[in-house]
Amino acid sequence: MNDAAHRRAVVVSRNGIDIVTELLTEVSAGHARVKLSHAGICHSDIAAIASGTITGPAHIGHEASGVVVESRIPGLDAGTRVVAYATDAYATHVDVPHDRIVVLDPGCSTLDAALAEPVACVIGAIEMLPLADCSEIVLVGAGFMGLLAVRHLALLGHAVTVVEPIEARRAVALGAGAVRALHPDSVLSEYPSGTAIVIEATGSAGGLALAGDLVAIGGTLGILGYHQSENGMRTVPMERWNFRAMSVLSLHHRSAERMMRWIDRAQRSAAQGGIVPSEFVDAYFGLSDAALALAMTPADRAPVKAVLTFQ
Ligand SMILES: [Zn+2]
Repeated sequence: MNDAAHRRAVVVSRNGIDIVTELLTEVSAGHARVKLSHAGICHSDIAAIASGTITGPAHIGHEASGVVVESRIPGLDAGTRVVAYATDAYATHVDVPHDRIVVLDPGCSTLDAALAEPVACVIGAIEMLPLADCSEIVLVGAGFMGLLAVRHLALLGHAVTVVEPIEARRAVALGAGAVRALHPDSVLSEYPSGTAIVIEATGSAGGLALAGDLVAIGGTLGILGYHQSENGMRTVPMERWNFRAMSVLSLHHRSAERMMRWIDRAQRSAAQGGIVPSEFVDAYFGLSDAALALAMTPADRAPVKAVLTFQ
């Protein structure tokens, strides 16, 4: 395939997922064309597809890395390895503006670079929490984002207790540096008065309720999970939250400028052997299997993290 002219891309519509060949136009001024090597499959995309939020034909995907093949950005040469913070990253090539590109440290692999965006989300999330006087952090949910948070907090020297129903994931959490990992059924008795800082990373109603029940009076609940409204049917236990007089923080961010800064921190952390997100990747797909990779699967059978690999 001619790098300058065509790309293969995932198109999501109400009718399903198609892989199409698209003609690319000339690279715009201030942009670079990146030939992708990897793209992380994000649970927010899986959720959006499963919930029918995506109606018209749409390009999605925002966790990507690759090599610049054409550049109209001064100082950025073809051949440079980059994170491409694109919005259409389930594709062989993306065109990205200058302020959505991070040049890679030589020590960061393109696989880890593709996952710099979710790591950046975790870095930003942890920045929001009042951790100066905290001697223990309880984290509910050892999926990909939860495991990244465990790793980040462990590297900062925090004692993290992980709450997770799946045994294999509890083991991964311990390997990532958690001091202990408990089953949800046994955790409430461990914290009769709750604890000061609880991070929720499940994205589920049950996980959020449990995380709230673990917060001590006056404590903080940080919500890292990606939650859906289930057509407005989701509720939160406000009475219990009010009784605890607790702070509830959404740990999500929408500032692209901050995200780019944290993506840079994420890829440099990986280069230093700090947060290495590829350690949690347990499934790889080619582009032709993107529909499979983007299918909703129950948490106990879904991969912790799937990545598309481009040839
Ligand atoms: Zn994502």
